[in-house]
Amino acid sequence: MRGTQNLQRRSLLQGAGDSVEAAGERFRQAAQEGTLHDLDRSEFTVPGISASDAVRWAYENGMVSTRDGRAVYDRIMAAPPDETCPLCGHGSVRTLDHFLPKRMFPALCVDPLNLVPACADCNHAKGDGLPSTAGTTPLHPYLDRIDHDPWLGAKVTVSSPIWLDFFVSPPVTWEQVLIDRTRYHFALFGLARLFAVQANRTVSSIRKQLTELLNAGGKDMVRTYLSAEADTRLAHRLNGWEAVTYRTLARDDAFCSGAFTAA
Ligand SMILES: [Zn+2]
Repeated sequence: MRGTQNLQRRSLLQGAGDSVEAAGERFRQAAQEGTLHDLDRSEFTVPGISASDAVRWAYENGMVSTRDGRAVYDRIMAAPPDETCPLCGHGSVRTLDHFLPKRMFPALCVDPLNLVPACADCNHAKGDGLPSTAGTTPLHPYLDRIDHDPWLGAKVTVSSPIWLDFFVSPPVTWEQVLIDRTRYHFALFGLARLFAVQANRTVSSIRKQLTELLNAGGKDMVRTYLSAEADTRLAHRLNGWEAVTYRTLARDDAFCSGAFTAA
């Protein structure tokens, strides 16, 4: 009985190959055209297989739990440099997030481009949400590569204790829809708060050193140190919170003059 069932499953999955491939093609094209919010979900079913069976057979049993499938899963998980979550640029990769939810788009449940490595917080924040407009489509880390442009800005809003306000500061060359999407992404994953907390911790961890520099050479020495730290981090990641934190602090006169001394 079990053998017959397996054979049936196998033949249903094999028979679905062409339509799954066509669905993947439609996904790629819509992502390129910025029309992911307009996709017709009926075109992303798997013929002859219910959504929950497709996800269970192909993804949960096929990809996550078999040796060959797991090797593919692990390769996708290992793709981001330093295991850094590509959605927030901070957390560690812990899971694969279905960019378009697997139960609503079962034909994409094992499509590598629909599987985005993510940290647990980003995976949770995104949930099964669907893009409803072009401007409320989160950025796809492999299809929307924005990190060659500087887009992350920050300013010191409270100097004691230090608090940085992070925001999207898009280059003038960006189209409005990309600006909207980046701001949506920023809000969806709670990046302003995440980065502000990290910035705060960074200041705490270098306070002793900043105090010594201030005492030895005044605010210029503090600024020189912060600028050098910013430069090396900006070269590594132009829009990393760490790089932008150092750059923002270096440019803030009150901070360099000693505002950091108050814990
Ligand atoms: Zn994340």
